[in-house]
Amino acid sequence: MHEFAQEIDAFVVELDAAVAAHLDWVRRVLRCAVVQSTPGEDVLSAQAHTLCRFGAWFASKRGHFERLDNAATERVDAVHESMHDAIRTICNTVLGGMPAQHGDLDVFERTQSELLALLARFKTLVLSSAQRHDPLTGLPLRHSIEYDFTLYQMDARRNQNQFYVVMIDVDHFKRINDTYGHPVGDTMLCHLTETLKGTLRGNEPLYRYGGEEFLLLMQCKSGDEAASLAGRLVATVRETPASAGGVCVNLTVTLGVAEVGELESLASAVQRSDAALYEGKHAGRDRYVIDRL
Ligand code: GH3
Ligand code: MG
Ligand code: MG
Repeated sequence: MHEFAQEIDAFVVELDAAVAAHLDWVRRVLRCAVVQSTPGEDVLSAQAHTLCRFGAWFASKRGHFERLDNAATERVDAVHESMHDAIRTICNTVLGGMPAQHGDLDVFERTQSELLALLARFKTLVLSSAQRHDPLTGLPLRHSIEYDFTLYQMDARRNQNQFYVVMIDVDHFKRINDTYGHPVGDTMLCHLTETLKGTLRGNEPLYRYGGEEFLLLMQCKSGDEAASLAGRLVATVRETPASAGGVCVNLTVTLGVAEVGELESLASAVQRSDAALYEGKHAGRDRYVIDRL
């Protein structure tokens, strides 16, 4: 399993544990309020929201949350701190021998329920993002292509760039599985993904289209630039050995590259890149074929 999938699993487990830790904390605070014993530092300190277990965990994962939804991450900070402020006021009032104020309890209940709702939403976001990614390679799966294709097509038109759909298919991959076994084949696909990603200029979306096929969206200033990038991908894969289970092989790939029309559909562009790929396979593999407009 790709480390992406393991990270997602671990993140969801930790998120559940952090929510459970928060609920334990609430039970402890309630007990203190009822029997009027002094709660710990993570209740009475002005920095309680950074001392509680949830707060510490959230701070350590902040980058992850921000990438999922920056505005909601800031909202978690705000409601978590308000919740702690309210509970501190309640505890100090009770410990001072006075009854707690309705207003403080209202703030506590409101902020706590918003915090739990935000965390539930984050969990949904993480799980739905996991569904859109391939657990083996960590690449987005083909369902995301349609939306990105339209955005890229508009962006290319705005920037007066050419837009290409590139189908990348591993050559004779069945032989790898037949010779070394499926698990070695899996590791080779992960190596190949890293090689492809390392050769791209950084912003081109790469998808696992299916089996041993990948799809790339790219914008180029000219046909020469497209040919140069396609050639670099083919050459880099050929020259980069992939090792797995004591086996070291140099894979090769064939690319079908279709220049996309301004109003062309994804289905049509994919069909043309497939046809170019087929041509490349018949011409001997380990190459690219471009279908220009
Ligand atoms: P060609 O050069 O014509 O593309 O030959 P090929 O052997 O790559 O093509 P073919 O379509 O005959 O076989 C594709 C192989 O890819 C067969 C399938 O078992 C393998 N494959 C697809 N997905 C995976 C995967 O996730 N892991 C592994 N190990 N193998 C896979
Ligand atoms: Mg194939
Ligand atoms: Mg193949």
